[in-house]
Amino acid sequence: MSRAKIAGSLAPGATVGILGGGQLGRMIALAAADFGLRTVVYEPEISGPAAQVTNQHMAGAYGDEARLSAFAARVDVITYEFENVPAEAVAYLAELRPVRPGGRLLAVAQDRWLEKSFFAERGIATAPFARIDNLTDLEHAVEKIGDRSILKTRRFGYDGKGQVRIEKGAKLAAAWRAIGEAPAILEGFVPFRREVSVVAARGADGAFTAFDLCENEHRDHILARTTVPAEVAPRTARDAVDIARLTAEALEVIGVFAVEMFVCETRGRETLLVNEIAPRVHNTGHWTIEGAETSQFAQHVRAICGWPLGSARRMAPRVEMENLIAARAQEWSRLIAEDGAHLHLYGKDVAAPGRKMGHVTRLFRTEEPARRESGEKLKDSALPPTLR
Ligand code: AMP
Repeated sequence: MSRAKIAGSLAPGATVGILGGGQLGRMIALAAADFGLRTVVYEPEISGPAAQVTNQHMAGAYGDEARLSAFAARVDVITYEFENVPAEAVAYLAELRPVRPGGRLLAVAQDRWLEKSFFAERGIATAPFARIDNLTDLEHAVEKIGDRSILKTRRFGYDGKGQVRIEKGAKLAAAWRAIGEAPAILEGFVPFRREVSVVAARGADGAFTAFDLCENEHRDHILARTTVPAEVAPRTARDAVDIARLTAEALEVIGVFAVEMFVCETRGRETLLVNEIAPRVHNTGHWTIEGAETSQFAQHVRAICGWPLGSARRMAPRVEMENLIAARAQEWSRLIAEDGAHLHLYGKDVAAPGRKMGHVTRLFRTEEPARRESGEKLKDSALPPTLR
């Protein structure tokens, strides 16, 4: 098939370049293959989950301009699967090929201070926050924000890394040292009822689509389970999507991204506080592979290729996605035998603690959640019948 561009969009047979080779890159490459696209994965490692399913793999440093040029020459559009891809590499590549979802989104999402300021400037609520460049800033901020707070590095934090909780009487100098005395923000602790996320897409034509609001449970700072739809008032769900739309438009996003939020309840009324942006496909959107008419990965490929976005319609009254962390993936033989369980394994050899090895998605006939103790895993016998 021709590689010629149709009115600015790519045609099947074109090549998508992916920076980063983890499970997100793997699932983007699989979705691209479904559309007859080729992929080249670029990452510093020799191989990873994406390398197993891509047409070509290039091992190279993100600072190696000659290698990055060779990568760009092989592809028609470039995307990335993790937010800490160096801004310099993205700026360099953007001179050679379109890089999507886009540099502005990435710059804001990489820096917690810019990120929180982005929302505050637009009147969108976040936890109270202050910029911390030294110990004196921290002492003043704790006085202002209160002694229940969290100190987070501005950059390179994920899954709770680069964070320390500040409690009453905490030794602030020790907290400052614990995050490596790196530029940071102090955030007030939010007594949230639920954690939710909007996984959304904006197309090259400016069209916007959001999947249904996801409700997320974390364990040890790592996503354990996503349930859709989130148990919130319809108005809260609409407000959450509006925040994602505003973000997409302001930052000229082309592709899939996510906005994570806290739902708080004051005098019986729900309010939303934005926590952070993920400038890429997101773990809380994995349920869409079987649970939505278009998966987040297919949606992302459509957007970055300049194609129309697909329908984000949910395929069942309720969908649950469970991450298979570390040794939990060893239960694959039971999961694969479970009627209606959609098992995904990422091809990782070593099940290190906290490592995401795969996920499993279940579609349910009823919206009513199975009863469970908070933090306890679902008992199979409690599950309503899954859809087939
Ligand atoms: P983050 O790295 O900002 O995504 O934080 C990881 C997790 O820590 C979140 O998903 C929350 O469960 C929790 N968390 C982060 N910030 C706050 C906050 N300001 N108040 C309460 N919990 C928080």
